[in-house]
Amino acid sequence: MFETLSDRLTSVFSSLRSKGRLSDADIDATTREIRIALLEADVALPVVKAFVAQVKERARGSEVSQALNPAQQVVKIVNDELIGILGGETRRLRFAKTPPTVIMLAGLQGAGKTTLAGKLARWLREQGHAPMLVAADLQRPNAVQQLQVVGERAQVAVFAPEPGSGVGDPVEVARRSIDEARRLNHDIVIIDTAGRLGIDQEMMRQAADIRDAVSPDETLFVVDAMIGQDAVTTAQAFMEGVGFDGVVLTKLDGDARGGAALSVRHITGRPIMFASTGEKLEDFDAFHPDRMASRILDMGDILTLIEQAQKTFDEEQAAKMAGKLTSGENFTLDDFLEQMMMVQKMGPIKNLLGMMPGMGQMREQINSIDDRDLDRIAAIIRSMTPAERQDPKIINGSRRARIAAGSGVSVSAVSNLVTRFFDAQKMMKRMAGGMGIPGMPGGKG
Ligand code: GDP
Repeated sequence: MFETLSDRLTSVFSSLRSKGRLSDADIDATTREIRIALLEADVALPVVKAFVAQVKERARGSEVSQALNPAQQVVKIVNDELIGILGGETRRLRFAKTPPTVIMLAGLQGAGKTTLAGKLARWLREQGHAPMLVAADLQRPNAVQQLQVVGERAQVAVFAPEPGSGVGDPVEVARRSIDEARRLNHDIVIIDTAGRLGIDQEMMRQAADIRDAVSPDETLFVVDAMIGQDAVTTAQAFMEGVGFDGVVLTKLDGDARGGAALSVRHITGRPIMFASTGEKLEDFDAFHPDRMASRILDMGDILTLIEQAQKTFDEEQAAKMAGKLTSGENFTLDDFLEQMMMVQKMGPIKNLLGMMPGMGQMREQINSIDDRDLDRIAAIIRSMTPAERQDPKIINGSRRARIAAGSGVSVSAVSNLVTRFFDAQKMMKRMAGGMGIPGMPGGKG
């Protein structure tokens, strides 16, 4: 699931990594790639359009954080938008004020409703609830028996018409189940309704009748994620025919492109509440838009790092630093030290490469630094006089010897640092000449 989309988005991002800033043309090219990636993942066209327009607008806008380089900014925007399209906040079950809470399941035959009923019941039981499953699918042969088997595996009670009892009306079964749940102190009732192979007026009417009879606290539409675009059409039909409060995606373990997951919320306006990921009862969990987004982007750690970077570098610091970067000339060893210290605050340096504004371009230099190196570099810089830090060109042989003695390192370590710094400064100047930092005073963006 989502592999193709993940791969494509990752390659879009990696092609941005070498950019100092994004031109409008870069943003156009990037959003074009994102559009293709989404269409290939079978995401519905209106959803793709809305998504791409949002990403484009935000990438062009001035909201982008100065703490991130362009590739990271785009990753962040795409991540935010993915979370948004998947529903934002995790939507939890609403329980009735007076039990039982009634949950009704609707969906096509084969969507995975009966399996899901068992999964949901088990999940709720493990949270201390006492759910009861209700067999209101009296159409499909064996449906009642299948639910009984599922109930046994989930270790929950099942309410079903006695074979031969003559009760053939699913609405009546559903209505009676509520009284039975009250009598037996079940706080949750999960009603499994009949599905058909295709969208069918009779099926819709029956589901609507059950709905009217029991007034569910939650009506969940169960849909097979593997049916791609059809999931969207089916969802729309159920929305009109029965109405529902939330969506359950099943078979997310399948080899699907993920379009259903990314479309259904936007198209129906209803949140995805649960996800099923296999045939076993435990292959099931609440649906978390943020976790799903980072799974799609395949970069959970990076996103955390990006957040850390944003927290560590407040906008003011970042703006000050960006101002220095635009002029190049003013970048001193003090700034160099300050940037390194900021990075050190955030954690192991190897994980944080490229997080500093402008430092993405210095990947190689940063790469050769490790955390102990950092302390040594700080010691060397602190052994310099303010004049030397402002203008390292004056650091001649005898000054080097003095600094080395002061910081307890070899003279060549001092020379090394000074050379590294000049390289960095040169790079800054080149950047400053060729580009501005967008949105910064003095920047050309
Ligand atoms: P219903 O007709 O909607 O009640 O669907 P069922 O619960 O009978 O499921 C139809 C088939 O899909 C069964 O073979 C299930 O084992 C299978 N199934 C249900 N959920 C999942 C899932 O999340 N992943 C996989 N791989 N199979 C599932």
